[in-house]
Amino acid sequence: MTSFKLLTVSVLALTLASCGAQTELSLDITNEDTIIVSDNADVKALSELALSKGYGYNITKSLTTEIGPRLAGTAAEENARAWAVAKFKALGFENISVEPFSVDGWERGVETARITSPSQQNLFVTALGGSVSTPRGGIEAPVAYFKTFDDLANAPEGGLDGKIVYISGRMERARDGAGYGPANKKRRSGATEAAKRGAVAVLIRSVGTDSHRFPHTGQMRYAEDAKKIPIGAISGPDADQLDRVFATDQSVTIHMDLNTRATGAKMSGNVIAEIVGSEKPNEIILIGAHLDSWDLGTGAIDDGAGVGIVMGAAKMLMDSGLKPKRTIRVVLFGAEEIGLKGGFAYVDAHKDTDLANHILATESDFGAGRIYSIQAGAGEENIAGVKAIAPEFKFLGIEFQDGASTGGPDIGPMAREGVPTIRLNQDGTDYFDLHHTPDDTFDKIDPEAMAQNVTAYATMIWLASESDSNFKGE
Ligand SMILES: [Zn+2]
Repeated sequence: MTSFKLLTVSVLALTLASCGAQTELSLDITNEDTIIVSDNADVKALSELALSKGYGYNITKSLTTEIGPRLAGTAAEENARAWAVAKFKALGFENISVEPFSVDGWERGVETARITSPSQQNLFVTALGGSVSTPRGGIEAPVAYFKTFDDLANAPEGGLDGKIVYISGRMERARDGAGYGPANKKRRSGATEAAKRGAVAVLIRSVGTDSHRFPHTGQMRYAEDAKKIPIGAISGPDADQLDRVFATDQSVTIHMDLNTRATGAKMSGNVIAEIVGSEKPNEIILIGAHLDSWDLGTGAIDDGAGVGIVMGAAKMLMDSGLKPKRTIRVVLFGAEEIGLKGGFAYVDAHKDTDLANHILATESDFGAGRIYSIQAGAGEENIAGVKAIAPEFKFLGIEFQDGASTGGPDIGPMAREGVPTIRLNQDGTDYFDLHHTPDDTFDKIDPEAMAQNVTAYATMIWLASESDSNFKGE
């Protein structure tokens, strides 16, 4: 496809220009006709440019360093929105705006847990997002052991009066994160199922794949018709230990103290910026990531990386001097972690205006691991359109993958409204070692893998912008 060649050659021209005496990059297109490059040189030039310029990487570094953790609905998340607006401006984006919406605020305080019988042993614990607090002084109670969430859900109602329920069950490691969904059931619904049976609190084995003593937080939900009881997660090694204690002695008691606070209605918001299309400005290619993070780490892999990847990719395209025909819209969603609030708010704000003009949408929200495949959403035209551009990604080691993708968590709500989607699938083998823990920090990001992501997204938005397909077939 010649369009990709154009991007490559143009970016290469930029590289050449930047090697000269000037320290400032020239955004003008150098005479493309005079530059002849081999295919191998194309690949090298693109990837090395992304790496050497720190496209994406430096943005993630800035966000995680200057703002740090940015829990939904807090002042830190508001500071992150201000950071995003300033960054978009500095990078030269157009039509920068914030679309506010309201969320239920929640914060954690001191949290402890320990086995009190048959022997005293501390456990590393964290409250799950949205959990109610334990009463003053905490809760001490005998523990009812469940190997899996399904064992609890299938247990008869009642029978757990006054007990702390513990749900074990290990998450499977997988490149595509397939182990997350099944393991996550206990996090989402463990408190409700335990409360229905009379329990006073719940502990779960962390939803994660690491062997460190960091517990993994994450959002939980209460059913309307069940009592609200506190729920926390203990680290993997502590769960192993508790399993061993149970194997030798069933009469385990635990003391747990999870101090949490509902802070009432708080503001969140989506931050939006564009490169306005040169020929079809009303047609939108949306690339998103979420700006909020959990409070334990600095939200580097989740989802500072995604923020860097999508902002960096659009900036890379901008710097190439190429003018996309369609509008490239970058959306940094707020409050993803507490229930995709930004994704739903985006649909509410755009369904009566320009949602029907969204040609293609995707979100980067799976760390900074290398992309290995490209996948379309549902529908013949969506698949045909994505398949047509897929060969252009081979130079990055990315293959077309069958099957439908919703395009990412915050894209789900708009996909259900008929917006076509695309997904660049990342290697997430190690993602759940760090996810939602204090270990989610900037040092975990590999700059070379990040540069591959940025290059792939830059390539994708350019090709999608130039494509004759509207990915919809209407
Ligand atoms: Zn995320």
